[in-house]
Amino acid sequence: SLNEKLERSFKLLKGQGKITEINVAETLKEVRRALLDADVNYKIAKSFTEVVKEKALGQDVLNAVKPGQMMVKIVHDELATLMGGTSVDVNLQGNPTVILMAGLQGSGKTTFSGKLAKFLKSKKGKNPLLVACDVYRPAAIDQLKVLGEQINVPVYSEVGNMNPVEIAKAAIKSAKANGQNLVIVDTAGRLAIDEEMMKEIAAVKAAINPNEILFVVDSMTGQDAVNTAKEFNDRLDFDGVILTKLDGDTRGGAALSIRSVVNKPIKFVGTGEKLEALDVFHPERMADRILGMGDIVSLVERAQEQFDADQARQLQKKLAKNQFSFNDFLSQIQQIKKMGNLKDLAAMIPGMGKALKDIDIDDDAFKHIEAIIHSMTPDERENPAILNGTRRKRIADGSGTNIQEVNRLIKQFDDTRKMMRMVSTGKGKNMRGLMGN
Ligand code: GDP
Ligand code: MG
Repeated sequence: SLNEKLERSFKLLKGQGKITEINVAETLKEVRRALLDADVNYKIAKSFTEVVKEKALGQDVLNAVKPGQMMVKIVHDELATLMGGTSVDVNLQGNPTVILMAGLQGSGKTTFSGKLAKFLKSKKGKNPLLVACDVYRPAAIDQLKVLGEQINVPVYSEVGNMNPVEIAKAAIKSAKANGQNLVIVDTAGRLAIDEEMMKEIAAVKAAINPNEILFVVDSMTGQDAVNTAKEFNDRLDFDGVILTKLDGDTRGGAALSIRSVVNKPIKFVGTGEKLEALDVFHPERMADRILGMGDIVSLVERAQEQFDADQARQLQKKLAKNQFSFNDFLSQIQQIKKMGNLKDLAAMIPGMGKALKDIDIDDDAFKHIEAIIHSMTPDERENPAILNGTRRKRIADGSGTNIQEVNRLIKQFDDTRKMMRMVSTGKGKNMRGLMGN
């Protein structure tokens, strides 16, 4: 999977305190490859990785997360930003509000018209009228009628010699007369971009001056979707994009490409053939989908929240001078604990969730450790060297543990300190070790 690929390339970043030009290059190559796999347009994938590189270079890596995870976070946030940052509503101005659908045949216009009517009826209390402007195929009119019946929304249609412009105009007139405050105009598409189709929909636009033009596109069409979007946008200057068929195994790279090329918001996504299968577009979620990375982002976010940069800097100094004490150890443990339930944290690491399902991780894993440290005198905490047998016995009794546990902790502490000292005086610049990085 994409995530595995990223993880693999991020291994190269492991052990680096800062993200540097050298360690970022290989990672970005993977990111770019991954985006291409997700159907993101080549040029866009390239410029995207440039932006990510700029952002990543020189970033301090939080001691609680791996540099690779930081990269994932940067990539994720950048993806979300590129796709618009926040969700955008449909424009419901006008009385009636007139919404025009555009897109190729089979993209999902008719289905989405039904979905949108249902959505705005139930969520915004609208009283919709669906309009069948696909005059070339009688079956298309029937299809819309069937959908209308399911959601109890009337369908305006004409058989005979009226053209789409005339039908659309007549439908709006009829809506006004019947107090319908929302008109959704479904149009005919072609299998490919075609001058006649473009002329027709441009004429409908000119005649009815819609409040909102929505371009419907099949997310499975991948790279082609970008060209189609561009052509439609050049002709219609549409207001938003509807990405359909996201229920398939498509990764949704089209969302990123379309957004970058036409710079119009994606407003909804279709996730099935049923009329309920409609979701408001969330850039963050789409970024997750494109990266396929589970909850690693929230792990990084939580770590970030809890990270105290000053404290880390102090710690680093102490490490270099070999002054790391049990008090520091205790505050590290408290930082880790602040990040939340251990099992939750572990489960957010891709691949770990399943493995941990049946294993009992003790949420109080640190309880004994804390009790032991609390039973030490301030002097003992700062100078662990003075912890002789008598002192250890006293600490065991005081903490309600036993001498073996106390010995084990002191041994672990010594080992950790040794290891961290090596790391902090070596080429790595940040404190590592306690978090297992
Ligand atoms: P139109 O030609 O643009 O009007 O497209 P239709 O609305 O007729 O849809 C074409 C086909 O795609 C139909 O079989 C729909 O059921 C199907 N379809 C539309 N939207 C979705 C979707 O979000 N998911 C899936 N799986 N199928 C969809
Ligand atoms: Mg149709």
